[in-house]
Amino acid sequence: MLLTAALVIVALGLGFLLGRRGAPGAPAGDAGAEPTGAPAGLVDSHEGRVLDVIPLGIVVADENGGTVYRNTTADALVDSWVDGVVGRLVVERLVAAAAGGSSSEQVRTPGSSSHILQVVARPLQSDDGSVGVVGAVVILEDITERSRQESVRRDFVANVSHELKTPIGALSLLAETLAAETDPDVVGRLSARIETESQRVGSIIEDLLDLSRIEGESPDRVELLDLAGLAAQVVERVLPIAEQRGIGIRLEVGSGAHLEASRNQMVSMMRNLVENAVKYSDDGGKVTVGLGSDDDGVRFEVADEGIGVPERDIERVFERFYRVDRARTRETGGTGLGLSIVRNVVHAHGGRVDLSSTEGSGTTVLVRLPAGAAVA
Ligand code: ADP
Repeated sequence: MLLTAALVIVALGLGFLLGRRGAPGAPAGDAGAEPTGAPAGLVDSHEGRVLDVIPLGIVVADENGGTVYRNTTADALVDSWVDGVVGRLVVERLVAAAAGGSSSEQVRTPGSSSHILQVVARPLQSDDGSVGVVGAVVILEDITERSRQESVRRDFVANVSHELKTPIGALSLLAETLAAETDPDVVGRLSARIETESQRVGSIIEDLLDLSRIEGESPDRVELLDLAGLAAQVVERVLPIAEQRGIGIRLEVGSGAHLEASRNQMVSMMRNLVENAVKYSDDGGKVTVGLGSDDDGVRFEVADEGIGVPERDIERVFERFYRVDRARTRETGGTGLGLSIVRNVVHAHGGRVDLSSTEGSGTTVLVRLPAGAAVA
Protein backbone atom coordinates (compact mmCIF):
# COMPACT_ATOMS: atom_id res chain seq x y z
CA MET A 1 0.00 0.00 0.00
CA LEU A 2 2.68 2.43 1.16
CA LEU A 3 4.82 1.48 -1.81
CA THR A 4 1.96 1.97 -4.27
CA ALA A 5 1.22 5.40 -2.81
CA ALA A 6 4.91 6.25 -2.99
CA LEU A 7 5.14 5.21 -6.62
CA VAL A 8 2.20 7.49 -7.45
CA ILE A 9 3.81 10.43 -5.60
CA VAL A 10 7.13 9.75 -7.27
CA ALA A 11 5.53 9.49 -10.68
CA LEU A 12 3.79 12.85 -10.13
CA GLY A 13 6.66 14.65 -8.41
CA LEU A 14 9.42 13.32 -10.57
CA GLY A 15 7.72 13.81 -13.87
CA PHE A 16 8.89 17.32 -13.12
CA LEU A 17 12.41 16.16 -12.34
CA LEU A 18 12.83 13.99 -15.39
CA GLY A 19 11.29 16.68 -17.53
CA ARG A 20 14.45 18.74 -16.98
CA ARG A 21 16.75 16.61 -19.03
CA GLY A 22 19.11 19.30 -20.10
CA ALA A 23 21.40 18.51 -17.18
CA PRO A 24 23.75 15.57 -17.73
CA GLY A 25 22.80 12.42 -15.80
CA ALA A 26 25.34 10.27 -13.96
CA PRO A 27 26.74 7.51 -16.16
CA ALA A 28 24.76 4.29 -16.12
CA GLY A 29 25.74 1.99 -13.28
CA ASP A 30 28.12 4.50 -11.70
CA ALA A 31 27.37 3.59 -8.12
CA GLY A 32 29.70 6.07 -6.48
CA ALA A 33 28.84 9.10 -8.55
CA GLU A 34 26.84 11.88 -6.95
CA PRO A 35 23.51 12.37 -8.64
CA THR A 36 24.64 15.09 -11.04
CA GLY A 37 21.42 15.40 -13.00
CA ALA A 38 19.34 16.83 -10.13
CA PRO A 39 18.12 20.15 -11.45
CA ALA A 40 19.30 23.19 -9.57
CA GLY A 41 16.65 24.24 -7.11
CA LEU A 42 14.90 20.87 -6.92
CA VAL A 43 15.93 20.24 -3.33
CA ASP A 44 14.43 23.58 -2.37
CA SER A 45 11.41 23.03 -4.54
CA HIS A 46 8.11 21.74 -3.24
CA GLU A 47 8.65 18.30 -4.83
CA GLY A 48 12.11 17.94 -3.31
CA ARG A 49 10.91 18.67 0.20
CA VAL A 50 7.94 16.32 -0.10
CA LEU A 51 10.18 13.48 -1.23
CA ASP A 52 12.58 14.08 1.66
CA VAL A 53 9.95 13.70 4.37
CA ILE A 54 8.51 10.46 2.96
CA PRO A 55 9.72 7.56 5.17
CA LEU A 56 10.73 5.63 2.05
CA GLY A 57 13.99 5.76 0.16
CA ILE A 58 13.52 7.10 -3.38
CA VAL A 59 16.22 6.90 -6.03
CA VAL A 60 15.58 8.15 -9.56
CA ALA A 61 17.63 7.43 -12.66
CA ASP A 62 17.66 8.80 -16.18
CA GLU A 63 17.08 6.69 -19.30
CA ASN A 64 20.59 5.20 -19.02
CA GLY A 65 20.10 4.13 -15.39
CA GLY A 66 22.39 6.87 -14.05
CA THR A 67 21.26 8.26 -10.71
CA VAL A 68 19.80 11.76 -10.97
CA TYR A 69 18.12 12.08 -7.60
CA ARG A 70 17.87 10.40 -4.25
CA ASN A 71 16.07 11.58 -1.14
CA THR A 72 17.57 11.74 2.36
CA THR A 73 15.75 8.55 3.47
CA ALA A 74 17.50 6.60 0.68
CA ASP A 75 20.87 7.86 1.90
CA ALA A 76 20.00 6.82 5.46
CA LEU A 77 18.83 3.33 4.44
CA VAL A 78 21.64 2.43 2.07
CA ASP A 79 24.93 1.19 3.50
CA SER A 80 27.22 2.72 0.86
CA TRP A 81 26.50 3.86 -2.69
CA VAL A 82 30.06 2.97 -3.68
CA ASP A 83 30.58 -0.58 -2.47
CA GLY A 84 27.63 -1.46 -0.21
CA VAL A 85 25.53 -4.58 -0.86
CA VAL A 86 22.29 -2.58 -0.99
CA GLY A 87 23.83 0.41 -2.78
CA ARG A 88 25.14 -1.79 -5.60
CA LEU A 89 21.86 -3.68 -5.87
CA VAL A 90 19.88 -0.42 -6.18
CA VAL A 91 22.17 0.82 -8.97
CA GLU A 92 21.85 -2.51 -10.81
CA ARG A 93 18.07 -2.47 -10.52
CA LEU A 94 17.90 1.12 -11.79
CA VAL A 95 19.86 0.18 -14.89
CA ALA A 96 17.58 -2.82 -15.47
CA ALA A 97 14.45 -0.73 -14.86
CA ALA A 98 15.67 1.98 -17.27
CA ALA A 99 15.86 -0.82 -19.86
CA GLY A 100 12.21 -1.67 -19.09
CA GLY A 101 12.52 -4.35 -16.36
CA SER A 102 10.55 -4.13 -13.10
CA SER A 103 11.64 -5.96 -9.95
CA SER A 104 10.68 -6.35 -6.32
CA GLU A 105 12.75 -8.12 -3.68
CA GLN A 106 13.73 -8.12 -0.03
CA VAL A 107 17.34 -7.71 1.04
CA ARG A 108 18.97 -7.96 4.41
CA THR A 109 21.58 -5.31 5.16
CA PRO A 110 24.87 -6.75 6.40
CA GLY A 111 26.24 -6.21 9.90
CA SER A 112 25.09 -6.80 13.44
CA SER A 113 22.12 -4.39 13.42
CA SER A 114 20.83 -5.89 10.21
CA HIS A 115 17.65 -4.50 8.61
CA ILE A 116 15.32 -5.98 6.02
CA LEU A 117 14.63 -3.68 3.07
CA GLN A 118 12.00 -4.04 0.39
CA VAL A 119 13.51 -2.84 -2.91
CA VAL A 120 11.06 -2.12 -5.72
CA ALA A 121 12.32 -0.93 -9.14
CA ARG A 122 10.06 0.39 -11.91
CA PRO A 123 10.66 2.02 -15.30
CA LEU A 124 9.23 5.54 -15.61
CA GLN A 125 7.27 6.32 -18.76
CA SER A 126 6.94 9.76 -20.26
CA ASP A 127 3.68 11.56 -19.44
CA ASP A 128 1.97 10.74 -22.72
CA GLY A 129 3.84 7.47 -23.32
CA SER A 130 5.13 8.75 -26.66
CA VAL A 131 8.86 8.34 -25.94
CA GLY A 132 8.67 5.09 -23.94
CA VAL A 133 10.90 4.72 -20.89
CA VAL A 134 12.42 8.03 -19.78
CA GLY A 135 14.03 6.84 -16.56
CA ALA A 136 13.67 4.54 -13.60
CA VAL A 137 12.83 4.70 -9.92
CA VAL A 138 13.72 2.52 -6.96
CA ILE A 139 11.67 2.70 -3.77
CA LEU A 140 13.27 1.38 -0.57
CA GLU A 141 11.23 0.53 2.50
CA ASP A 142 12.53 -0.66 5.87
CA ILE A 143 10.27 -3.63 6.64
CA THR A 144 12.28 -5.03 9.58
CA GLU A 145 9.60 -4.40 12.21
CA ARG A 146 6.76 -5.54 9.94
CA SER A 147 8.61 -8.78 9.15
CA ARG A 148 9.24 -9.40 12.84
CA GLN A 149 5.56 -8.87 13.70
CA GLU A 150 4.47 -11.14 10.87
CA SER A 151 6.77 -13.88 12.07
CA VAL A 152 5.53 -13.53 15.70
CA ARG A 153 1.94 -13.71 14.44
CA ARG A 154 2.68 -16.77 12.27
CA ASP A 155 4.35 -18.55 15.21
CA PHE A 156 1.48 -17.65 17.48
CA VAL A 157 -1.19 -18.98 15.12
CA ALA A 158 0.84 -22.17 14.58
CA ASN A 159 1.22 -22.62 18.35
CA VAL A 160 -2.46 -22.02 19.11
CA SER A 161 -3.50 -24.47 16.40
CA HIS A 162 -1.06 -27.06 17.69
CA GLU A 163 -2.14 -26.60 21.33
CA LEU A 164 -5.83 -26.96 20.46
CA LYS A 165 -5.29 -29.84 18.05
CA THR A 166 -4.02 -32.18 20.77
CA PRO A 167 -7.01 -32.05 23.17
CA ILE A 168 -9.52 -31.84 20.31
CA GLY A 169 -7.95 -34.92 18.68
CA ALA A 170 -8.15 -36.71 22.04
CA LEU A 171 -11.81 -35.68 22.45
CA SER A 172 -12.74 -37.09 19.08
CA LEU A 173 -10.97 -40.38 19.80
CA LEU A 174 -12.53 -40.67 23.26
CA ALA A 175 -16.02 -39.96 21.93
CA GLU A 176 -15.57 -42.62 19.23
CA THR A 177 -14.43 -45.20 21.79
CA LEU A 178 -17.26 -44.25 24.13
CA ALA A 179 -19.87 -44.82 21.41
CA ALA A 180 -18.82 -48.48 21.10
CA GLU A 181 -18.43 -49.10 24.85
CA THR A 182 -20.95 -50.94 27.04
CA ASP A 183 -18.99 -51.62 30.23
CA PRO A 184 -20.20 -48.98 32.75
CA ASP A 185 -16.74 -48.74 34.42
CA VAL A 186 -14.99 -47.99 31.14
CA VAL A 187 -17.78 -45.56 30.16
CA GLY A 188 -17.19 -43.72 33.47
CA ARG A 189 -13.44 -43.52 32.86
CA LEU A 190 -13.85 -42.31 29.28
CA SER A 191 -16.37 -39.67 30.36
CA ALA A 192 -13.94 -38.41 33.00
CA ARG A 193 -11.20 -38.14 30.35
CA ILE A 194 -13.58 -36.25 28.07
CA GLU A 195 -14.29 -33.83 30.88
CA THR A 196 -10.55 -33.27 31.53
CA GLU A 197 -9.79 -32.67 27.85
CA SER A 198 -12.74 -30.27 27.51
CA GLN A 199 -11.50 -28.34 30.54
CA ARG A 200 -8.11 -28.16 28.91
CA VAL A 201 -9.56 -26.62 25.73
CA GLY A 202 -11.52 -24.24 27.98
CA SER A 203 -8.37 -23.17 29.89
CA ILE A 204 -6.43 -22.50 26.69
CA ILE A 205 -9.27 -20.37 25.32
CA GLU A 206 -9.65 -18.51 28.64
CA ASP A 207 -5.90 -17.75 28.76
CA LEU A 208 -5.91 -16.60 25.14
CA LEU A 209 -8.83 -14.27 25.85
CA ASP A 210 -6.97 -12.96 28.94
CA LEU A 211 -3.89 -12.27 26.83
CA SER A 212 -5.82 -10.46 24.11
CA ARG A 213 -7.76 -8.44 26.72
CA ILE A 214 -4.51 -7.38 28.42
CA GLU A 215 -2.93 -6.37 25.13
CA GLY A 216 -6.00 -4.34 24.19
CA GLU A 217 -6.84 -2.89 27.62
CA SER A 218 -7.40 0.87 27.51
CA PRO A 219 -5.85 3.17 30.12
CA ASP A 220 -9.21 4.40 31.45
CA ARG A 221 -9.84 1.03 33.09
CA VAL A 222 -7.27 1.92 35.76
CA GLU A 223 -8.54 2.43 39.31
CA LEU A 224 -7.10 2.76 42.80
CA LEU A 225 -6.81 -0.79 44.12
CA ASP A 226 -6.27 -2.30 47.54
CA LEU A 227 -3.84 -5.04 46.47
CA ALA A 228 -3.92 -6.73 49.89
CA GLY A 229 -7.65 -7.31 49.47
CA LEU A 230 -7.14 -8.65 45.94
CA ALA A 231 -4.32 -10.97 47.06
CA ALA A 232 -6.56 -12.36 49.83
CA GLN A 233 -9.34 -13.04 47.31
CA VAL A 234 -6.92 -14.78 44.95
CA VAL A 235 -5.52 -16.97 47.74
CA GLU A 236 -9.05 -17.85 48.84
CA ARG A 237 -9.92 -18.97 45.31
CA VAL A 238 -6.84 -21.17 44.93
CA LEU A 239 -6.99 -22.60 48.47
CA PRO A 240 -9.48 -25.44 47.79
CA ILE A 241 -7.19 -26.91 45.08
CA ALA A 242 -4.16 -26.51 47.36
CA GLU A 243 -5.90 -28.13 50.33
CA GLN A 244 -6.82 -31.19 48.26
CA ARG A 245 -3.07 -31.81 47.99
CA GLY A 246 -2.20 -30.78 51.54
CA ILE A 247 -0.46 -27.61 50.37
CA GLY A 248 -0.59 -24.62 52.72
CA ILE A 249 -0.69 -21.02 51.42
CA ARG A 250 0.56 -18.28 53.75
CA LEU A 251 -0.31 -14.68 52.98
CA GLU A 252 2.13 -12.12 54.39
CA VAL A 253 0.95 -8.56 53.87
CA GLY A 254 3.11 -5.60 54.89
CA SER A 255 2.09 -1.96 54.94
CA GLY A 256 -1.04 -1.12 52.92
CA ALA A 257 -0.31 -1.64 49.26
CA HIS A 258 -2.48 0.59 47.12
CA LEU A 259 -1.91 1.10 43.44
CA GLU A 260 -3.56 2.72 40.45
CA ALA A 261 -3.91 -0.28 38.19
CA SER A 262 -6.28 -2.45 36.22
CA ARG A 263 -8.25 -4.74 38.55
CA ASN A 264 -8.69 -7.57 36.02
CA GLN A 265 -5.03 -7.55 35.13
CA MET A 266 -3.84 -7.53 38.74
CA VAL A 267 -6.13 -10.45 39.63
CA SER A 268 -4.97 -12.34 36.54
CA MET A 269 -1.29 -11.78 37.38
CA MET A 270 -1.67 -12.82 41.04
CA ARG A 271 -3.86 -15.82 40.24
CA ASN A 272 -1.44 -17.19 37.65
CA LEU A 273 1.52 -16.93 40.03
CA VAL A 274 -0.28 -18.48 43.02
CA GLU A 275 -1.75 -21.26 40.85
CA ASN A 276 1.70 -22.03 39.43
CA ALA A 277 3.23 -22.18 42.92
CA VAL A 278 0.58 -24.72 43.91
CA LYS A 279 0.69 -26.67 40.61
CA TYR A 280 4.44 -27.13 40.75
CA SER A 281 4.62 -27.92 44.50
CA ASP A 282 4.80 -31.45 45.82
CA ASP A 283 1.87 -32.68 47.91
CA GLY A 284 2.12 -31.28 51.43
CA GLY A 285 4.28 -28.35 50.27
CA LYS A 286 4.29 -24.73 51.39
CA VAL A 287 3.55 -21.59 49.38
CA THR A 288 4.17 -18.05 50.64
CA VAL A 289 2.54 -15.01 49.09
CA GLY A 290 4.13 -11.71 50.14
CA LEU A 291 2.93 -8.19 49.47
CA GLY A 292 4.51 -4.92 50.55
CA SER A 293 5.11 -1.40 49.42
CA ASP A 294 7.73 1.32 49.81
CA ASP A 295 8.61 4.60 48.12
CA ASP A 296 9.52 2.78 44.91
CA GLY A 297 6.16 1.06 44.60
CA VAL A 298 4.70 -2.35 45.28
CA ARG A 299 6.43 -5.72 45.69
CA PHE A 300 4.42 -8.89 45.15
CA GLU A 301 6.25 -12.15 45.73
CA VAL A 302 5.18 -15.77 45.44
CA ALA A 303 7.55 -18.45 46.72
CA ASP A 304 7.18 -22.21 46.71
CA GLU A 305 9.29 -25.19 47.69
CA GLY A 306 8.31 -27.24 44.68
CA ILE A 307 10.03 -28.87 41.71
CA GLY A 308 11.74 -25.67 40.53
CA VAL A 309 12.77 -24.63 37.02
CA PRO A 310 16.01 -25.93 35.47
CA GLU A 311 18.51 -23.09 34.95
CA ARG A 312 18.48 -23.43 31.15
CA ASP A 313 14.70 -22.85 31.05
CA ILE A 314 14.48 -19.82 33.36
CA GLU A 315 15.01 -17.37 30.48
CA ARG A 316 12.27 -18.98 28.41
CA VAL A 317 9.37 -19.69 30.79
CA PHE A 318 7.81 -16.27 30.08
CA GLU A 319 7.43 -17.10 26.38
CA ARG A 320 3.97 -17.98 25.13
CA PHE A 321 3.29 -21.73 25.24
CA TYR A 322 6.71 -22.51 26.68
CA ARG A 323 6.57 -25.37 29.19
CA VAL A 324 9.50 -26.99 30.88
CA ASP A 325 8.11 -30.47 30.89
CA ARG A 326 5.19 -31.03 28.55
CA ALA A 327 4.32 -34.40 30.03
CA ARG A 328 4.08 -32.96 33.53
CA THR A 329 2.12 -29.88 32.49
CA ARG A 330 -0.39 -32.10 30.73
CA GLU A 331 -1.03 -33.69 34.11
CA THR A 332 -1.35 -30.32 35.81
CA GLY A 333 -3.46 -28.87 33.00
CA GLY A 334 -0.96 -26.07 32.25
CA THR A 335 -1.39 -24.11 29.03
CA GLY A 336 2.06 -22.49 28.89
CA LEU A 337 0.39 -19.07 28.77
CA GLY A 338 0.27 -18.17 32.51
CA LEU A 339 3.69 -16.53 32.83
CA SER A 340 3.36 -14.68 29.54
CA ILE A 341 0.10 -13.21 30.89
CA VAL A 342 2.02 -12.22 34.06
CA ARG A 343 4.80 -10.59 32.06
CA ASN A 344 2.33 -8.68 29.85
CA VAL A 345 0.45 -7.36 32.89
CA VAL A 346 3.63 -6.28 34.66
CA HIS A 347 5.04 -4.56 31.58
CA ALA A 348 1.72 -2.83 30.88
CA HIS A 349 2.02 -1.33 34.38
CA GLY A 350 5.63 -0.24 33.87
CA GLY A 351 7.02 -2.86 36.28
CA ARG A 352 9.36 -5.81 36.12
CA VAL A 353 9.15 -9.48 36.98
CA ASP A 354 11.99 -11.81 37.98
CA LEU A 355 11.94 -15.55 38.48
CA SER A 356 14.61 -17.27 40.53
CA SER A 357 14.61 -20.99 41.02
CA THR A 358 16.63 -23.98 42.09
CA GLU A 359 15.62 -27.26 40.56
CA GLY A 360 14.25 -29.55 43.22
CA SER A 361 13.99 -26.93 45.95
CA GLY A 362 11.64 -24.20 44.79
CA THR A 363 10.82 -21.08 42.85
CA THR A 364 10.31 -17.44 43.76
CA VAL A 365 8.69 -14.94 41.43
CA LEU A 366 9.06 -11.28 42.35
CA VAL A 367 6.92 -8.60 40.74
CA ARG A 368 7.76 -4.93 41.24
CA LEU A 369 5.28 -2.28 40.18
CA PRO A 370 6.15 1.41 40.30
CA ALA A 371 3.92 3.65 42.43
CA GLY A 372 2.81 5.68 39.45
CA ALA A 373 1.92 2.59 37.42
CA ALA A 374 -0.13 3.11 34.31
CA VAL A 375 -1.57 0.63 31.87
CA ALA A 376 0.18 1.20 28.58
P1 ADP B 1 1.65 -23.38 32.58
O1 ADP B 1 0.24 -23.03 32.26
O2 ADP B 1 2.17 -24.55 31.81
O3 ADP B 1 1.91 -23.45 34.03
P2 ADP B 1 3.20 -20.92 32.58
O4 ADP B 1 3.43 -19.96 31.49
O5 ADP B 1 2.49 -20.41 33.80
O6 ADP B 1 2.47 -22.16 31.95
O7 ADP B 1 4.59 -21.49 33.01
C1 ADP B 1 5.49 -21.95 32.03
C2 ADP B 1 6.32 -23.10 32.56
O8 ADP B 1 7.17 -22.63 33.60
C3 ADP B 1 5.46 -24.18 33.20
O9 ADP B 1 5.07 -25.12 32.24
C4 ADP B 1 6.41 -24.78 34.23
O10 ADP B 1 7.21 -25.75 33.62
C5 ADP B 1 7.30 -23.61 34.62
N1 ADP B 1 6.88 -22.98 35.90
C6 ADP B 1 6.12 -21.88 36.08
N2 ADP B 1 5.99 -21.59 37.38
C7 ADP B 1 6.66 -22.53 38.06
C8 ADP B 1 6.89 -22.82 39.45
N3 ADP B 1 6.40 -22.03 40.41
N4 ADP B 1 7.65 -23.88 39.75
C9 ADP B 1 8.17 -24.67 38.79
N5 ADP B 1 7.99 -24.48 37.47
C10 ADP B 1 7.24 -23.43 37.11
